[in-house]
Amino acid sequence: MSSPVVEFTGVSKTYPGRVTALDHVDLTIHYGELMAVVGHSGSGKSTMLHLMGTLDRPSGGRIAVAGHDVAELSDRELSALRAQHVGFVFQQFHLAVGVPVLDAVADGLLYAGVPMRERRRRAARALERVGLGHRIDHLPHQLSGGERQRVAVARAVVGEPPLLLADEPTGNLDSASGAAVLGLLRELHASGTTVVVITHDREMAEVLDRRVEMHDGRIVANSGPVFPGLPGERAETRR
Ligand code: ADP
Ligand code: MG
Repeated sequence: MSSPVVEFTGVSKTYPGRVTALDHVDLTIHYGELMAVVGHSGSGKSTMLHLMGTLDRPSGGRIAVAGHDVAELSDRELSALRAQHVGFVFQQFHLAVGVPVLDAVADGLLYAGVPMRERRRRAARALERVGLGHRIDHLPHQLSGGERQRVAVARAVVGEPPLLLADEPTGNLDSASGAAVLGLLRELHASGTTVVVITHDREMAEVLDRRVEMHDGRIVANSGPVFPGLPGERAETRR
């Protein structure tokens, strides 16, 4: 089997002011997983996601993303790794005011070295994929919250990254729009993307294949398939 998409070995993160946000976390995520990260506010979920996405570096331990030890990469190499392998979706949609949807999505390819015409062509395709092919000329303020989040998902996946990280993607949405975004994440997973979703929506977490629960910077529960493709193979640890 290929190397995991994410591997944490004894990973810690301490912020200035001595806040230990992550405390010796071990975690392996294989290609093809659909995983929820749950836990109370302040338990270290976003910190863990940022580290997985190489937006930040750990204070201790080892992180490998797509087989690359992040400690061995320069900032420039890390940016390249991120551009090729990771898409992000956040609770706030982060769509610039006044930028048409097509351009917002095309910008997702800025760091991939794709020429503008091709960026826009792929952006239009990504928008069709999220069901917004008819909204490409709209501005963010002309869209509903659910539509804006679908634009953000299109931007995250326009470069077809193998790993999609979503931090409370439905946190600002009504339940119908949230369900649509969840459905979209499931479709992306079904077409081969590894998806990790932070949520404190228990119902949402329940319908995903695997749940990792955080408390005070530690993983306190980890359930679900260890080897995707072998649904009978489940691991349950609790401590
Ligand atoms: P969660 O996403 O589960 O709410 P976070 O990972 O955001 O948790 O935060 C974990 C802990 O780290 C919290 O105590 C938080 O206040 C702290 N923290 C997060 N980001 C920073 C930062 N940039 N500087 C200092 N402390 C931080
Ligand atoms: Mg958070």
